[in-house]
Amino acid sequence: MPSALRLADPRVPIPDVHPPYVPAASAGFPVAENLCRVLVNAAVNDDYRLMVAAAPAAALAARPGQFFHLACPPSGEDRPFLRRPMSIHAVDPAAGTITFLYKVQGAGTRGLATLAPGDRLDAFGPLGHGFAAPEGRRHLLMLARGVGLATLAPQAEAVAAAGGRVTAVLSARARDLVMAEDRLAACGCDTLVVTDTDGTSAVEALRARIAAIHAERPFDAIVTCGSDRLMRLARDFARAWGVPGEVALEQHMACAVGLCHACVRPFVDAAGETSYRRVCWDGPVFPIEEATSWSI
Ligand SMILES: Cc1cc2nc3c(=O)[nH]c(=O)nc-3n(C[C@H](O)[C@H](O)[C@H](O)COP(=O)(O)OP(=O)(O)OC[C@H]3O[C@@H](n4cnc5c(N)ncnc54)[C@H](O)[C@@H]3O)c2cc1C
Repeated sequence: MPSALRLADPRVPIPDVHPPYVPAASAGFPVAENLCRVLVNAAVNDDYRLMVAAAPAAALAARPGQFFHLACPPSGEDRPFLRRPMSIHAVDPAAGTITFLYKVQGAGTRGLATLAPGDRLDAFGPLGHGFAAPEGRRHLLMLARGVGLATLAPQAEAVAAAGGRVTAVLSARARDLVMAEDRLAACGCDTLVVTDTDGTSAVEALRARIAAIHAERPFDAIVTCGSDRLMRLARDFARAWGVPGEVALEQHMACAVGLCHACVRPFVDAAGETSYRRVCWDGPVFPIEEATSWSI
């Protein structure tokens, strides 16, 4: 095995005191290669796992919508060379922990799934631009599908903590794949679970239900992640209601710091001008008005 891969093996013991990477604040660039220690890495259902890791201070500055680029250990025949981007699902500065909720999909996430308590997690970040400040939101509509829940839950929680109301639509293939429902309910969010299996996740049905909620208690902001169809629905609402909308985009990426341009996507501004932006560096959260979907 090449030495670089051996170095990335998380089972190499790490010292209690993190090595003196010079991150962040001192260089005016608040991004560091954070050597974290895995505390929990457990399945929450057939598809998703929750990983909690003790993290150094630089990592605890992560804001909702930001992400870390995670080094993924080898597993089986897999040798994931590139890091994999993962949204911050929770940050607990008091406990000194960061949390990720991830779907096991391919080589990278299969490797992450092998990490055991005590192993090292190499998390580069926090990266990217997160959601707008939660203060001042009166009623946030959150439209999340699948893995989008991982990304949106912290913003919903932040808006609720700032005194805003949140209606969180949690969409999934089936009931047992719905996550974060208890966490959102516990912070006072109104949750609306919709699934493919019972037919409630169909966009037109959802459109009518949300419009009815809006008529009673108007939304003044929208966030969405995890589904192209929900992104288009959110954009329709943002236009119709004249409220700001934000989408957190997911795109395969390599460097995550804006250099390689692997994650460029097209955007169209209000004047109809097309521009090309890097999801890692210019986002991953973008104004929904400007984001283009895969189908339009
Ligand atoms: C900012 C950001 C935040 C994210 N946050 C989360 C999160 O919180 N939780 C989470 O579970 N995931 C999240 N993701 C997605 C996550 O990064 C990917 O699921 C992960 O990189 C998959 O890696 P893998 O090696 O396991 O799978 P891969 O082997 O990379 O493949 C996963 C799937 O994508 C397909 N695929 C591979 N390459 C491409 C390509 N170039 N274009 C299209 N499809 C391709 C594969 O066929 C496979 O079906 C996030 C992505 C971004 C950009």
